[in-house]
Amino acid sequence: MKKDLDAVVERLKAAKRVLVIGHIKPDGDDISSVVTLVLILRKLGKVAEGCIAGEIPWFYKDLADVPLIKNVDDLRDFEYDTSVTVDASELSRIGDAVELLKGKKPDVTIDHHQTNVGFGEIDFYDSAYAAAAVIIYEIGKQLVDYDARLAEINLLGIATDTGFFKYSNTDYKVFSYAAELVKAGASIQRISSAVLEHRTLNEVKLLSEMFAKLHIEEDGKLAWSYVSTEMLRHTGCTEDDAGGLVGEIRSMYGVEIAILFIEWPEGDVHISFRSKNYADVSKVALEFGGGGHVRAAGCSCKGVDLEEMINKVVARTRQALKPDK
Ligand code: 5GP
Ligand code: MN
Repeated sequence: MKKDLDAVVERLKAAKRVLVIGHIKPDGDDISSVVTLVLILRKLGKVAEGCIAGEIPWFYKDLADVPLIKNVDDLRDFEYDTSVTVDASELSRIGDAVELLKGKKPDVTIDHHQTNVGFGEIDFYDSAYAAAAVIIYEIGKQLVDYDARLAEINLLGIATDTGFFKYSNTDYKVFSYAAELVKAGASIQRISSAVLEHRTLNEVKLLSEMFAKLHIEEDGKLAWSYVSTEMLRHTGCTEDDAGGLVGEIRSMYGVEIAILFIEWPEGDVHISFRSKNYADVSKVALEFGGGGHVRAAGCSCKGVDLEEMINKVVARTRQALKPDK
């Protein structure tokens, strides 16, 4: 845990040109943190750009200002004096955006993952924060006045990383900051509609196929399923469309750990872990080269066989149901 937020604020105040970088396979918190920080810096009169390597799920682009995020190629000639990563627990999480750092450490890193390794010149990370967007808000409110658009994009990350104010990380601070952002003009309805109500017919078909493969063991405490390349192809879905499905498994009564294996492209498997009350899935993800939070973690394995990965990972995850594993 490294918690000197003043050092981050001072570094940002001194900056003139800033590159803000999020992580690959971005979620709402990541997108929110990148866009919010860019808008804060621009409000302060600085030149700021936001970068995420790879695709951004299409439904986030309905939210104002998300389209300002650029890809790596757009920013190769962008000159900056300060680089900042948000919501990334280690350097590899920013994917190809690492090329923009030209071999240097990020100047500032801002994160809230349990598995953070501290990889910048100035690091701020603390897993007590429900979202990176909560940290961004603590920075932002010291520096600028919030208008409705800034408030709404900042609220996106707080809402999504708390499961829309349901998870155990939904603390007093989350509600009080969310209230301030709503007071400044943010609409939780617009955010929830964009993020939670975008399922296409193809995704519903994928969901039903995923549930058809569901395995339940350990007295109903461990539930897992998979989405193969073949299932994605014939339902007309992409890997992104499978992103939220692990939550559907966890939603079952009595399930403590849910695992979803997503094979995409063939030979690569992304594994999403979710736990409900006590199991620490970040430890399991870490052992397979990934990381994350106690209740939500993941890893990406390249050049592997789906069935072999399922066997290995399920065997290891059974242990995680026991105390202290
Ligand atoms: P998801 O299952 O939604 O892909 O990821 C859940 C959580 O685990 C997210 O907070 C994400 O940042 C983290 N995570 C997912 N994949 C990886 C990975 O390959 N490496 C690390 N360090 N964290 C990951
Ligand atoms: Mn986050």
